[in-house]
Amino acid sequence: MTEPVATEVGRDFIRDIIQADLDQGKYREIVTRFPPEPNGYLHIGHAKSIALNFGIAQEFPGRCHLRFDDTNPVKEEQEYIDSIQADVRWLGFDWGKNLFFASDYFERLYEWAEQLIRDGLAYVDDQTQEEIRTSRGTLTEPGKNSPFRDRSVDENLGLFRRMKAGEFPNGARVLRAKIDMAAGNINLRDPVLYRILHAHHPRTGTKWSIYPSYDYAHGQSDAIEGITHSICTLEFEDHRPLYDWFIEKLPVPSQPHQYEFARLNLTYTLLSKRVLTQLVRDGHVAGWDDPRMPTMAGMRRRGVPPAALREFVKRIGVAKANSVVDVGMLEFCIREELNRTSQRRMGVLRPLKVVIENYPEGQTEELEAINHPDDPSAGTRKITFGRELYIEQDDFMENPPKKFFRLSPGNEVRLRYAYFIKCTGVIKNDKGEVVELRCTYDPATKGGNAPDGRKVKATMHWLPAATSVPAEIRIYNQLFSNPSPDASNFAADLNPQSLEILAHARVEASVAESNSTEPMQFERQGYFVRDKDSTSGKPVFSRTIGLRDTFAKEVAKG
Ligand code: ATP
Ligand code: MG
Repeated sequence: MTEPVATEVGRDFIRDIIQADLDQGKYREIVTRFPPEPNGYLHIGHAKSIALNFGIAQEFPGRCHLRFDDTNPVKEEQEYIDSIQADVRWLGFDWGKNLFFASDYFERLYEWAEQLIRDGLAYVDDQTQEEIRTSRGTLTEPGKNSPFRDRSVDENLGLFRRMKAGEFPNGARVLRAKIDMAAGNINLRDPVLYRILHAHHPRTGTKWSIYPSYDYAHGQSDAIEGITHSICTLEFEDHRPLYDWFIEKLPVPSQPHQYEFARLNLTYTLLSKRVLTQLVRDGHVAGWDDPRMPTMAGMRRRGVPPAALREFVKRIGVAKANSVVDVGMLEFCIREELNRTSQRRMGVLRPLKVVIENYPEGQTEELEAINHPDDPSAGTRKITFGRELYIEQDDFMENPPKKFFRLSPGNEVRLRYAYFIKCTGVIKNDKGEVVELRCTYDPATKGGNAPDGRKVKATMHWLPAATSVPAEIRIYNQLFSNPSPDASNFAADLNPQSLEILAHARVEASVAESNSTEPMQFERQGYFVRDKDSTSGKPVFSRTIGLRDTFAKEVAKG
């Protein structure tokens, strides 16, 4: 059980390092960057990295760059470049003029590669990918030198230029750094700097037939941009000696320092772009913005407020040790924010018709409902009470157990903002299912209180039959039924009940008519947001999250 930790901004180890660097006068300005590869949509793990990098630039004198690490044209697309920018903005951050692409540096990276060759620090290797992989050795065994390792500078230069000129097919050769095949750190065993790839690049088109590896491009891009604190996740810790090697060997304009923090892991969630891409491609979800996806696009569509995500990443803090955060903590933050900000309405998920027999036929009246219990400035609205209403199916039981206080034959309950009603009869279909209730109301209880002081144990939401509007409501459950889904066989862990469609729900007319994409609370049911699948005939609402706060209860119990 992970407890919400109130982490004050400015109290994590990275911010401590930055403060110390500033105190010592090492920098006048802090420059960070968020460096996504445009090979998928951003997810909530990226939100942690964005909030950290952009947050630092806001708290300290400095700036944060958005840099696309677009070094692998086979997997990268303009759609992802666009969605990433939209998502960073949605989360509430702005890179201003500082939008960069690693591909802007292809020319310079190439020149530096030639320089490494001239300095005897890089060579063209003709081995196959497979041969390179098997000769790399293991954690306990050193690697083997490539038979092409001792080519002359001239031969290397000649071959590398021909690679660039597109003379060889994909995979025929690579350029490798000449470091040490026996290095304890496998990343230093002559890593690949360039590979041949005849592919169309979203920005450079067909200009290049060789592309730099991520490891070769990454640190130099930081150096070109004057990044002071290059912040990344822990899996790159072992790559740092390699990045430092490039920075030492090349005439780069600045010396960035890399700091690693723990990536975000969430229960019931997989945050790997490979898996998320697969979920989309195989049709397990309706797209990158499917509300069940842990992507920012999915969360936005689902009605998650960006402020809730910012609060969540603030609470989990930034640590150096990997851990798994309970998804309940994210839900807690969403609920808190929505409870504060969203207007109240009424929606009936599974309607059951009620006829108030002693209410005059043809008559209606307007009752006043409040829009937010803690915020009088949110105002009130009118709802129409009449003879025919809808209540929630599970608010009625014909033969209730002892502790059931909602509607049952003979029992009296309050209809929110309206009257006390009592059930006097039940109408069933030929399958024996209850399809309609007969009730009476007490006209003296208008507004929901009895003048004689008698009490009822339940207050229920409802809708007028005549003026409420049919709607589709979508309820989402966890996408995976396993708290720690298996990334290598995730299909087996998918929750078959992750989407529940309620095709015959009803909502207040004002809700149906509004095109607002602000989430609202349907009283007693949770928070809902209008979905883009709505049509003029039938609005569709997604449940952002239910009301029940199991996480807070568990924390309170300890
Ligand atoms: P994959 O999901 O396949 O591991 P990636 O998420 O690392 O890919 P990038 O585009 O390279 O994809 O990520 C951009 C930045 O976001 C990197 O600096 C990376 O460290 C950071 N990041 C990615 N995942 C997380 C996460 N779960 N928690 C925190 N930061 C993350
Ligand atoms: Mg990555």
